[in-house]
Amino acid sequence: MKFYYNRTKIVATMGPACSKKEVLLSMIRAGLNVCRLNFSHGKPEDHKKFIDLIREINDEYKTNVGILADLQGPKIRIGLVKDGGIHLINGTRINITTNECIGDDNQIYITYETFPQDVQANEIILLDDGKLQLKVIETNRKDTVICEVVHGGILTSRKGVNLPNTKVSIPSLTPDDLVNLQYALQWDVDWVGLSFVRTGQDIIDLKRIIRESGKAARVIAKVEKPEAIENIDEIIAASDGVMIARGDLGVECPLEEVPLLQKMIARKCRDASKPVIVATQMLESMITTPRPTRAEVNDVANSVLDGADAVMLSGETSVGEFPVIVIETMAKIVRNVEDLGYPFNASKIENTDSTSANYLSDALCGSAVYLAEHTKAEGIVSMTVSGYTAFEISSYRPKAGTYIFTSNKQLLNALSLVWGVRAFYYDKSDSTDETIADVNNILKAEQLLNAGDVVINTAAVPIIKQGKTNMLKVSVIE
Ligand code: PEP
Repeated sequence: MKFYYNRTKIVATMGPACSKKEVLLSMIRAGLNVCRLNFSHGKPEDHKKFIDLIREINDEYKTNVGILADLQGPKIRIGLVKDGGIHLINGTRINITTNECIGDDNQIYITYETFPQDVQANEIILLDDGKLQLKVIETNRKDTVICEVVHGGILTSRKGVNLPNTKVSIPSLTPDDLVNLQYALQWDVDWVGLSFVRTGQDIIDLKRIIRESGKAARVIAKVEKPEAIENIDEIIAASDGVMIARGDLGVECPLEEVPLLQKMIARKCRDASKPVIVATQMLESMITTPRPTRAEVNDVANSVLDGADAVMLSGETSVGEFPVIVIETMAKIVRNVEDLGYPFNASKIENTDSTSANYLSDALCGSAVYLAEHTKAEGIVSMTVSGYTAFEISSYRPKAGTYIFTSNKQLLNALSLVWGVRAFYYDKSDSTDETIADVNNILKAEQLLNAGDVVINTAAVPIIKQGKTNMLKVSVIE
């Protein structure tokens, strides 16, 4: 059975449209690498069904599809409104209250208890993805905020609220997130995504809980707030990967700034060797039509050129009519751009931090890619337990295939998110020479390498000791 592997990875959100095994399998065969469970929707038992299905497919077809549990974070919503929808008229006043009620022309409920204490006059309130806009006139600092409607329209129940100017005091991990996190950890997901991250500390706190639970899930910071942009360096440093969550980012920040923010975040992530996902509305029109718009095709292609490790689908695969065609389309677009290749980033090696504890292995990984470019190697083949080498090598976007051998089962699926990486389970611990010959032979047997191909091998020697990567070897496949 044929499976397509792209270098730029594809993340797809799970939902009713892809809950049947044959549909999910077809998506994986077409190039889907990571399944996203969106904890903003669905019940734990719905997510668990996907976990079981993905694991069943991984076992049956020897695939390494990863699982990303995406926590909702401090998402703020309005409550129910009268008759399912109310009309907000420009220039009129409306109260936002923290006392639960059915919204009408006079007042609407907000799920943010300390909103009247945190908000200031003149701040902006955006409703329903920014479609409606209010301005704060005054707050009684207790339970009510008086607002003026700036851009009106129909407001329906439970719509999202964005507060781009307000210093929101809700903790980054809400009580719901803590419950959902325990489910995700119990199911041994590979990645946990945290929404509305504001500081590096948000990520450090989440990682502490994961560590204390004895789990190895890695953390993705969803960047979607102006405060996250201000603190982007500490957030990237604290996390294992980043999602450019353009849906909320484009509401919280001026929309026209999103393209350059995307380029800035992607570049910083590559410099830090952290995988970066570009998300939201990539092929949105394919929710209802089998062909994307030309602008969407350009967006996916340009995101790859910006340096995305992965591109993400949301409604297109969770509720859309064409989940398999969407993956096929996305895979074709990314493959076509990847064929261009990336120029070797020599400045990254030159800027390697010589004071870092990982300096020698960083220098070795950069040199491995440099050597691969010069020898026109077909493969860079690395042994790793922590995965560090895989993230480093991938960040250089080598032309050679990146083949990672590891005895760390948890790492196999986590690496599905990382650009260009194909991972293989390997738990023998022979001598260095025997191991290198063995892994090269495995790749030849898999028809990923051929006799005469140049290969760059890296490892931490002695192999049995599991140290930092310190060995580089050029081999020719026999
Ligand atoms: C986004 O806002 O772009 C995003 C991916 O987050 P969510 O789908 O959780 O709103």
